[in-house]
Amino acid sequence: MAADVGSLFENNKQLVELNIFNRLVHADRIIKFRVTWQADNGDVHVNTGYRVQHSNLIGPYKGGLRFHPSVNESILKFLAFEQMFKNALTGLPIGGAKGGSDFDPSDKSEPEIMRFCQAFMNELYHYIGDQVDIPAGDINVGSREIGYLFGQHRRLTKKFSGAITGKELEYGGSHVRTEATGFGLLYFVCEMLGRLDKKIEDLVVSVSGSGNVALHAALKAIQLGAKVITLSSSQGHLFVEDGFCEAQVNQLIAAKGSSTEKLKSLNIGEWVDKHGPWQHCCDIALPCATQNEVTIEAAKQLVESGCMLVAEGANMPCTKEAVDWFEDKKVLHAPGKASNAGGVALSALEMGQNADFSRRSFAKLDEQLREIMHTIHDNCLQELNDADEKYLNYRKGANLAGFTLIASAAIAQGI
Ligand code: NDP
Repeated sequence: MAADVGSLFENNKQLVELNIFNRLVHADRIIKFRVTWQADNGDVHVNTGYRVQHSNLIGPYKGGLRFHPSVNESILKFLAFEQMFKNALTGLPIGGAKGGSDFDPSDKSEPEIMRFCQAFMNELYHYIGDQVDIPAGDINVGSREIGYLFGQHRRLTKKFSGAITGKELEYGGSHVRTEATGFGLLYFVCEMLGRLDKKIEDLVVSVSGSGNVALHAALKAIQLGAKVITLSSSQGHLFVEDGFCEAQVNQLIAAKGSSTEKLKSLNIGEWVDKHGPWQHCCDIALPCATQNEVTIEAAKQLVESGCMLVAEGANMPCTKEAVDWFEDKKVLHAPGKASNAGGVALSALEMGQNADFSRRSFAKLDEQLREIMHTIHDNCLQELNDADEKYLNYRKGANLAGFTLIASAAIAQGI
C-alpha cells in the first residue's frame, strides 16, 4: 500500500501536511470485550470478542464477523483496514470495519452456538446500529449465526432494524446476498478477461475452499462454461480432472457438515490429503478459503503450470511474496479488495432495502451486482497510467483508487 500510494504523496502536498497516511492507518477505535457463555454440560467458558471500527469517513462502519480460533486483534486490524478500501471501491457509501471472536464453533452443539452468539451480541450491541455500524457474516458466521445475532439485537434494542446484514429472506434479508461474493468474483474475472478480448468459456479453473465464497464462485464459473477442477478444505483438496458439474456443486451448497466430509461424500475424483490445490494445471486460480493460503511455493507452481490469472475470493489469500511473483511473471492478479467486494456491495443493497422497506428481485440484484463489479474494475483502471497496456497491475490500481477516495473524504471533512 505505502509503495503504491507513494507517488500520490509526492504530487499532493496536502496529503503530507494533513498527515493523511497516519490518519488512515489507525483505526477510529478497537473494541475488545469478554464473552462468557455456558456449554451444554454446564461448564462456563470465556472468549474474547472484537470490533475494529476502522473508518466511517464515507459511510457507516461495515464489515463481517468471524468466529475462528485464529481470530486476534492483529488479523482483524488488517482485515478492517482492507475493508475500508474495498468498501470505497464499490462506489457505495459504506465505511470499513471487521470483528469476531476466537470462539471455535466446529465442535459445538447448536444450542451452544446460539448461546455464544447471544452472549457476543450482549456486548456488541452497544456499538452497532443501522446508521452506525452494520456487521455481516464472515468465516463460520453464516445465516444461522446471523439469525441468532440479529434476534438478540432485536430483543436488546426492542427494534427491528437493519443493523446486521446477511439475514434470511423471511426477516429482512436480500436475494443474491449468499451468492454475491462468489458470483461477483466471476463477474470481475470476466471484466479482466474481457479487457484482453478473452472469454472464460472452456478455461480451466482451480478453486480453493468449499465454503460460501468458493462454492458460489465454482457454481458461477461452471454456469459461464468454465471447467472447475478443484475444491478444498483445511484438510486437503478434491481434484476432478473432468471438472465438477453444476449439480455436484449445488449438492455441496445444500449439504451440512465439515468441508472435508462434504467433499469426500461426493465420491468423485481424487482426494489429496494435506495439500492445497495449486499443483494442478489451470488457466485461472481462485483462492477462496483463507488468508495466506497461496505461498510463494504455490505461486511458483501456478506460474509454472501456465496459470494466467489469479483472482482473490478470500481476503488476502496470497502472501506478499506470492503477489510479487505473479506481478514479476506478468500473471494477472486481482486483490480481494476489488475482486471479492461483491459480498459487501450486496450487503449495502440489503441495507438500502431495509431502509425503504422494499425487496428487489433476484434478477435485478444480480444485474446490479454485475454493474458494481464493472464499476470496481473501472475504478482500478482509472488510476493506472499504463491502462492501455496488456498487463495491468490491479493491486496498484485498487490501492490507488481506494486511497484517493478515502483521502479526499478525510481532507473535505477537516481534522
Ligand atoms: P466459510 O467459512 O464458508 O468457508 C471457509 C472455507 O475455507 C472452508 O471450506 C474451510 O475449510 C476453508 N479453510 C479454512 N481455513 C483454511 C485453511 N487454513 N486452509 C485451507 N482451507 C481453509 O467462509 P467464506 O467462504 O465465507 O469465506 C472465505 C474467505 O472469503 C475468507 O477469507 C473471508 O474473509 C472471505 N470473504 C467472505 C465473504 C463472504 O461474503 N462470505 C465476503 C468477502 C470475503 P474447513 O471447513 O475445513 O475449515
